[in-house]
Amino acid sequence: MLILGSGPAGLSAAIYGARAGMQPIVVQGIQPGGQLTTTTDVENYPGFREVIQGPWLMQEMQAQAEHVGARMMWDTIVEVDLSQRPFRLIGDGGDVYEGEVLVIATGAQAKWLGLDSEQALKGKGVSACATCDGFFYRGKKVAVIGGGNTAVEEALYLTNHSPDVTLIHRRDSLRAERILQERLHAHPNITVLWNKEVAEFVDGGGNAGLCAVELTDTVTGERSRLDVEGGFVAIGHHPATELFRGHLKLDEDHYIWVEPGTAKTSVPGVFACGDVTDKVYRQAITAAGTGCMAALDAERFLQAAEFAELAEAAE
Ligand SMILES: Cc1cc2nc3c(=O)[nH]c(=O)nc-3n(C[C@H](O)[C@H](O)[C@H](O)COP(=O)(O)OP(=O)(O)OC[C@H]3O[C@@H](n4cnc5c(N)ncnc54)[C@H](O)[C@@H]3O)c2cc1C
Repeated sequence: MLILGSGPAGLSAAIYGARAGMQPIVVQGIQPGGQLTTTTDVENYPGFREVIQGPWLMQEMQAQAEHVGARMMWDTIVEVDLSQRPFRLIGDGGDVYEGEVLVIATGAQAKWLGLDSEQALKGKGVSACATCDGFFYRGKKVAVIGGGNTAVEEALYLTNHSPDVTLIHRRDSLRAERILQERLHAHPNITVLWNKEVAEFVDGGGNAGLCAVELTDTVTGERSRLDVEGGFVAIGHHPATELFRGHLKLDEDHYIWVEPGTAKTSVPGVFACGDVTDKVYRQAITAAGTGCMAALDAERFLQAAEFAELAEAAE
């Protein structure tokens, strides 16, 4: 069993795969442990009463996977051959990995605005995930940046915690679905600022973190400032699927297509799980859950394949 990616999806597949005797090899990629290694407090992963740290959780998951027999490879895959089994993955140094089954768990990265101040304040007021971090802004003023479905959903979600949510959009109309727009405009705690672009996230100094956003009007060029303690960038995600274009069926947003209710991709023996297949939930627990599904689907696939080979030999 080959697993591509070492976030919660890949490592959960590794734990189940190892315990099912499939001798998984995990190719970790440039971000061993995945996205959670870039955050601090995690408060919604079940099993921990106190707040835990993202990097610590991922170290524990890796240690658990290794403890049951999974092997970790520190490599990044640059080429795949899924035309026949064993499937072949080629690392950036030329190493070749082969597996009778392949689990793809390469994740998706949030898109950012690309400002230096955004980078400096990530985790200190600037976030790309309201479901993950909204709870930390209870009773505080927050802003969401974006104009599509994700931005509107994030703004609506944040009203569970914040009495004052501002949606900042650089155009004069939203791309979000009509029903979401109606809910947004009807909500008493949400204000929309049209034609505004974030020029800078402002650091409050010391341990304060984000204290405001500096805005530029996209029509007049006028500058303004909005005091907020949380800034949620919601301008979309980028699934890590370039490697698989032309090899696997992807959906219209370039996520890996899986048969509903399973981790099965369009190629028998290749499974996908976690954020690379998920543009809705994008949580560590859902990634771990689908990682488990991928390993169970892979194990059933191998059993069926072995049975078919035995039956053929007996004929
Ligand atoms: C700042 C931040 C805070 C978050 N906070 C929370 C939270 O509090 N609670 C929560 O539930 N979720 C949180 N999330 C979301 C959560 O991290 C993701 O939903 C989860 O990590 C997805 O897991 P995954 O295994 O699908 O992918 P990822 O974690 O994205 O892992 C992808 C893996 O694929 C590997 N990879 C990619 N391409 C290649 C390649 N070519 N070759 C080899 N390997 C490759 C990468 O190295 C990485 O190991 C947060 C996300 C961010 C960014």
